[in-house]
Amino acid sequence: MKPGEAKDMVLEAGKRLLKEGLVTRSWGNVSLRLDKRWMVVTPSGKRYEELLPEQMVLVDYHTMEYEGVFKPTSEASMHAAIFRARPEIGAVIHTHQVYATTVAVAGKEVPAIVDDQAQILGPSIKVTRYQRSNSDELAGEVVANLAGRNAVLIANHGAVCVGRNMDEAFVAAQILEKTCQVFMGAAMLGGAQLINAEEASRLHQEYLTDYSRRAEE
Ligand SMILES: [Zn+2]
Repeated sequence: MKPGEAKDMVLEAGKRLLKEGLVTRSWGNVSLRLDKRWMVVTPSGKRYEELLPEQMVLVDYHTMEYEGVFKPTSEASMHAAIFRARPEIGAVIHTHQVYATTVAVAGKEVPAIVDDQAQILGPSIKVTRYQRSNSDELAGEVVANLAGRNAVLIANHGAVCVGRNMDEAFVAAQILEKTCQVFMGAAMLGGAQLINAEEASRLHQEYLTDYSRRAEE
């Protein structure tokens, strides 16, 4: 992928997050892995509607040096830590979506309760311990609780969703929001019936294998 193409995709994804109500203003951020060194991220504190693709920022996810007119999002270190830890991941979306944030604030791990959740997000959705935004400690917590999964809740803050490409990360963000809403609704009815843990792992593995096969075709 050329840097220009990646910048288009990152800005497009930022605008789509706004349109779908997964973030308000620019409080959320998006990144795409370009190669073994660079990622493209949204800039810090700018409104996506007023930005141009060339204003997206190239960041070296090993050193955090960047190339761009604007500074990268202040949460770039979290994106970088994920790209370093998860070679199969191509895109990261960080949101403050309401239902996911609500569950994150309550500090509740979401077990496998919906089949598409288990397929796309993995066997459960974990919550990090509280750490200050933009800190290395938070990046570490996010990576640890995201292991083997495509979504994680950040205590008292929001969520991070990942995918092999931007579309997959986007679907993860949508499924996460729906799952958290369903989880809260089921709690009002006395609690959700769980999908057996082995079955949940199998569903996720099947999704990953099927996806790889389709990606190769
Ligand atoms: Zn945030």
